[in-house]
Amino acid sequence: MSGTVAIVGGGISGLATAYFLQEEARRRGQTVNCTLLEREQRLGGKTLTEKVEGCVIETGPDSFLTLKPQAVDLCERLGLSDLLTGMDPARSRVYILCEGKLRKVPDGLASIVPTKLTPFLTTDLLTPWGKARMLLDVFVPPKRDGVDESLASFIRRRLGSEALERIAEPLMAGIYAGDAEQLSMLTNFPRLVELELNHRSLVTGALAKRREAAHDPGRTSGRPTFMTLRGGLGVMVEALASQLKGVSILTGRKVVALRGEGPYELELEDATVLGADTVVVATPAYVSADLLRESNPRVAAVLDSIPYVSTATVSLAYDRSSFSNPLDGSGFVVAPIENRRVTACTWVSSKWPSHSPPDRVLLRCFLGRAGDEELLHRGDDELCRIAQDEIKSILHVSAEPVLKRVHRCDRSLPQYVLGHMEKLTALDEGMSGLPGVFLTGAAFRGVGLPDCIKQAALAAKKTLDFITMVDTGISGGTASR
Ligand SMILES: Cc1cc2nc3c(=O)[nH]c(=O)nc-3n(C[C@H](O)[C@H](O)[C@H](O)COP(=O)(O)OP(=O)(O)OC[C@H]3O[C@@H](n4cnc5c(N)ncnc54)[C@H](O)[C@@H]3O)c2cc1C
Repeated sequence: MSGTVAIVGGGISGLATAYFLQEEARRRGQTVNCTLLEREQRLGGKTLTEKVEGCVIETGPDSFLTLKPQAVDLCERLGLSDLLTGMDPARSRVYILCEGKLRKVPDGLASIVPTKLTPFLTTDLLTPWGKARMLLDVFVPPKRDGVDESLASFIRRRLGSEALERIAEPLMAGIYAGDAEQLSMLTNFPRLVELELNHRSLVTGALAKRREAAHDPGRTSGRPTFMTLRGGLGVMVEALASQLKGVSILTGRKVVALRGEGPYELELEDATVLGADTVVVATPAYVSADLLRESNPRVAAVLDSIPYVSTATVSLAYDRSSFSNPLDGSGFVVAPIENRRVTACTWVSSKWPSHSPPDRVLLRCFLGRAGDEELLHRGDDELCRIAQDEIKSILHVSAEPVLKRVHRCDRSLPQYVLGHMEKLTALDEGMSGLPGVFLTGAAFRGVGLPDCIKQAALAAKKTLDFITMVDTGISGGTASR
């Protein structure tokens, strides 16, 4: 019985947990009886690809960062190497909409820190004072009290307000559709905190890192910074599902409660009860809170306190002949001070040419960010109209799109706001009251796919270790729980 595992949630976190569990159990010679329960009829959660009229439309993630290798490694293990494709460096340029104009992010900007002088001095993204203030970073003393601070506070302190409004808010807070005044530095941008601590200044730290990389090219993977799969990331979901041979996958099965102290009982919406020794909960934090509310109200309260932001994406395809803009980059992000409704736009046909026919331009517009979610209550037609009007004024395209698709992602992006680190500690402590139950997913230690996969590998390992511990305890005749 001790090898019975239930995984709740069939997004990338749940699927990857099942995959690592199967692979690691095989490696250890352990037998596990694993069931994955997914509320929807389909697997993948936020990761969903639609194919419409030759266009690959991603409704959630469209790529992964390779500096964190877990996603690309998993694709390789799944046999998808031939489908991996990197972003062409010539098209990797990002624009920022600032003062009504698209302005290039200067070359050599590492996160937000300038490492190349000429592009930095000649950019029109910042005023001369804004540039001078950023360079004053080398004289700003490091903050060494170990207390977390917001992204806004960190950037204002080190690089000035202009760097915050024109670069950090659109580029860094934008990834999370978050509020820079609330996002925690320690949990969202730990590398920048380390840079300040270890090198006294961000600029000197980033330059030192660049020099180290130049002297030791073997330290970098040689992979393009962002990669995706031809055919879209849905291919990864399909590959995972098809390789989970020993896992019983039940879709259309919503779990409503987890009860017991081990072994556990999972109650499904249709009143079925499923028993499991070990449970991995891979649902969004607010769902996990509901599942655990009865068995561990303290943990549920912490999970409830992790905020989420809702977003929507509007994909628009145009005839290529309607565009005079060369779209020589991967897209643009919008500074919140611009007061626009579109927060970013990916030029999909430039970023991933295999995702659209050559005679089409495919764009994906993002709507909704922390503090601007009211917009998402409007109907699909209105969201399309808003996106189209903004594209018209920013990219000067007057033609009508030949294809429009709206996708809503309700409460889709967990926010690691100030205090997130303490929440993680409280969760670790609280979960010790539920031995054999493990939480994983985007809500905790990284929102991006590589971090979700990394956490899934850890959840699988903890699950197998727990099973081993219980079995050893039983065979040794001692109480194991
Ligand atoms: C618009 C958008 C764009 C993004 N872009 C990128 C990107 O380009 N690159 C990147 O790395 N990351 C990106 N992300 C982040 C990344 O996609 C997500 O963090 C990640 O997919 C989350 O995976 P997950 O499995 O943890 O959660 P989810 O995908 O939310 O999966 C949770 C699963 O649990 C199921 N479930 C919920 N309740 C129950 C229940 N009661 N019983 C059973 N099952 C249940 C859900 O149906 C779902 O399938 C993006 C996110 C969004 C929203």
